[in-house]
Amino acid sequence: MADPRSTPAMQQYARFKAKHPDCVLLFRMGDFYEMFDEDAVRVSKAIGLTLTQRSAGVPMAGMPFHQLDTYLRKLIAAGFRVAVCDQIEDASQAKGLVARAVTRVITPGTIVDEQLLESGQSGAGAARIGAVAFLGTGEDAPAALAVADASTGEMVLVDVAPGALMDELARRSVTELLYAHTDGPAVPPRIARAIEGLRIAGTSRPQWHFRPQEAPETLRKHYGVATLAGFGLRDDDAALIAAAVLVRYLADTQTALDDPDNVSGKADHTLTRPTLRHLAPPRRETRGTRCEIDAVSLRALEIERTVRAALGSSGSVGGADGSLLGVFLSAGPGKGTPRTAMGRRLLRDWLCQPSADLAEIRTRHDGVATLVSDRRVAREIGEALDLVQDVARLSARVALARATPRDIVALGVSIGRLPALIDSLANAPGLSGVRMGLESCRAELEPLGEIVRRTCVEHPPAHLREGGLFREGVDAELDEARLLQRDAGAWLSDYQTKLIAEHNLPHLKVGFNKVFGYYIELPAAQARSAPATLIRKQTLRNAERFTTPELREFEGKVMTAEARALERERVLFQAMCDRLSRACPAMNRFAESVARLDTLLALADRASAKGWNRPELTQDGTLRIVQGRHPVLEELRGSDFVPNDLDLGREASDNPADRARLALITGPNMAGKSTFIRQVALITVLAHVGSFVPAESATVGLTDRIFTRIGADDALHAGQSTFMVEMTETANILHHATPRSLVILDEIGRGTSTLDGLSLAWSIAEFLAGQGEHAGPRTLFATHYHELTELEDMLPGRVRNLHVAVREWSRADAAHPEIIFLHRILPGRTDQSYGVHVARLAGIPPRVVERAREVLASLSVSHGLGGSSGASDGASSAGNQTPASDASSPSGKRGKKVQVPPRGSDASQIPLFTEFVPHPAMNLLREVKLETLSPMQAFDMLRKLKDEAERA
Ligand code: ADP
Repeated sequence: MADPRSTPAMQQYARFKAKHPDCVLLFRMGDFYEMFDEDAVRVSKAIGLTLTQRSAGVPMAGMPFHQLDTYLRKLIAAGFRVAVCDQIEDASQAKGLVARAVTRVITPGTIVDEQLLESGQSGAGAARIGAVAFLGTGEDAPAALAVADASTGEMVLVDVAPGALMDELARRSVTELLYAHTDGPAVPPRIARAIEGLRIAGTSRPQWHFRPQEAPETLRKHYGVATLAGFGLRDDDAALIAAAVLVRYLADTQTALDDPDNVSGKADHTLTRPTLRHLAPPRRETRGTRCEIDAVSLRALEIERTVRAALGSSGSVGGADGSLLGVFLSAGPGKGTPRTAMGRRLLRDWLCQPSADLAEIRTRHDGVATLVSDRRVAREIGEALDLVQDVARLSARVALARATPRDIVALGVSIGRLPALIDSLANAPGLSGVRMGLESCRAELEPLGEIVRRTCVEHPPAHLREGGLFREGVDAELDEARLLQRDAGAWLSDYQTKLIAEHNLPHLKVGFNKVFGYYIELPAAQARSAPATLIRKQTLRNAERFTTPELREFEGKVMTAEARALERERVLFQAMCDRLSRACPAMNRFAESVARLDTLLALADRASAKGWNRPELTQDGTLRIVQGRHPVLEELRGSDFVPNDLDLGREASDNPADRARLALITGPNMAGKSTFIRQVALITVLAHVGSFVPAESATVGLTDRIFTRIGADDALHAGQSTFMVEMTETANILHHATPRSLVILDEIGRGTSTLDGLSLAWSIAEFLAGQGEHAGPRTLFATHYHELTELEDMLPGRVRNLHVAVREWSRADAAHPEIIFLHRILPGRTDQSYGVHVARLAGIPPRVVERAREVLASLSVSHGLGGSSGASDGASSAGNQTPASDASSPSGKRGKKVQVPPRGSDASQIPLFTEFVPHPAMNLLREVKLETLSPMQAFDMLRKLKDEAERA
């Protein structure tokens, strides 16, 4: 039997597969895309396709060609890279083997088709591709990163601080990362950590792509410029390496129609060559211009999606509901949702990467303020934006030769909104920047939009192959082809009339039959007097049939009219796309201005709908919020939400508490501590985004980074102990927080034994409070260790105590008082945790709750806090309690054994918990002044210490 792989088609397949070994190759055969061998087996298993055999021993699976998009979506979601190999000539015309070419390679980071991009995304999502170049070999080497959105053409370059790669990738929505191939492990550990941590794809590229010498030249060539200085880039900028790797990859996957069969002539005939004209010049981002939110905090603060959604989804797609972004996206137009996809994406980017550039933030606030104060202008702008489509992606598809007729028409309509947009901005003084941006592309785009609207129908077909995009009267050749199609009959009767009149042959007829085609028929009697111009074609019994060159031409035209009309439309369409794609830079500017305007409008709509106010941004370390609300919870709880104040870092205040930069927040579980500290973080984020904030007023000192340590997403760190995760994240904060940072800590030290935890929490709080000249970061420290509240007295002007108020309420019919959570943050401390009470609310059986009360009472006694203060049955109200006694302070202590009271015994009599008594030897040691100690005195001291130790 012949080798099933030796057929020409299978050999052609093998050649393409060899060129794309890392991709699933979809090979077009007639009306199907087929996969073979290993591809067929893996894919059929992964997405449930039927596995068949092409012939014995050649596994095959396939899909109808018109369902390609559906399957591509499934393949990408299942983590495959896909190369689509199309037939690039009409199979019926092909002599021998049909010419084929790989027309696109689709990877997780380079999706440009709308159907694929929209899957599961909230309309604000993006799939971005990143390339990283490390500047050194060590694990901690700094790196340069280039990130591009293939679907819009934007590209940014950033430096990555050691260890910060994952954070950069997370806030930029990178879904695929390119890195240099190494001879070592398949995926270098520093890359593996990032791609596994974020569940994104990693793609290795040949090492020579990363050569620094060639990078500037690659980019100059790509952008067709003599120097990169015009883009504000220096040739020795290491980020150019990453940019060059990206450009090369995009060119390879998006524009390189590979052509192993050397059929470029044919390829040119049916395919438009894709270009990367939409790729904007790289924008260099300098460090310090963003308020950085690391990946952990991005998740914990639920800025882009809720923790639950992040856990349930794969990759970067996930539900936005309940997140800060979700509050905007679900509000509806006019209430906070941007009207265009571009605005939704920019809002997402602003929220994940707030600005730290005071001038930029103020410009955004000015824009929002204008739109909040003049709602009429806001409405006009909203209406003008309503018809603007996703120009960024449309123009990218035009450049990549993937545009459909509807894309072109959408572009025309969108461009058509330019004048209305510019007019609506005439009375908006805070938006002059946007106006100038729109003006700058008007001259180039308006005529193009005009052409599209004049030449294309309003409701075009979905595919060019259906025909009918161009209007009548646009192109004579197209009109003629269509005319022929439509009324061949009319032409024939006109022609007949003309011939009868010309030759005076009243019985002449023009007719058609399937076998002979078009003919001119004369009765036999008249045939003899037929003029010489009629060419004899067929003789019947009593009639003669003729043709003419004109009729033949007509016949040829009619027969192919449909094909010709389609072909003509294709040529016109290609010319139109080419013209539009040359205007990509102007369309990028248009898209950028619209996105900005739309986002500012959404922020203004939100502020207006919810009564948010403009925050004041300052250069000092203030963080002062009056009547602040949680932007997400206020949505869910409405007027039930209790607003709260915060006053930190007010240098000029006489009250040391106001000058403090660290607030310790104590209060029972469920009182609202987490909510409060997150609310402060989110208000800080919004202020830096350029948004108004949910507060009566807010003064926010410019913030360089926001750090959080909140326990909610421990499950994301599979395989690590909770406590280890907690400490790793805290270590990161202690190393990197600056006086300009905001640190949010929730229940530090909970993952270990109480004493360990308390000691760690204590020392971490002390460290963050700053020392001497060094101010610490602004810190909100929610804790159930009420011992920490002593720090306010020990570090005046550095630490202030806040607590969440609770009201106790004794009901006659209840054994224990109820507590009511007031959710109100007040100055001062609390030393009750009410945990037992909450446990009862949660349904812990009464016997267990009772026993817990006993144990708690005994614990409090031994803890030196006095009989009833720790137990919730006490009559004291929470807040402003006396400080815990010295004995509970962790410094200079000596432990005694823990004794556990037997069940049923009188627990309050027996110490249950480690009891501390200060040791005199320790006090002696603390007082020693080593600098002035002579050897003799030192010996004396040693003896004294030993005596003390033996006495104890
Ligand atoms: P804690 O961190 O102190 O245990 P949480 O912040 O988790 O408490 O809040 C507990 C509950 O109280 C949440 O369900 C939240 O909805 C509600 N809550 C918190 N703060 C407020 C507030 N300011 N107004 C109204 N409800 C609140």
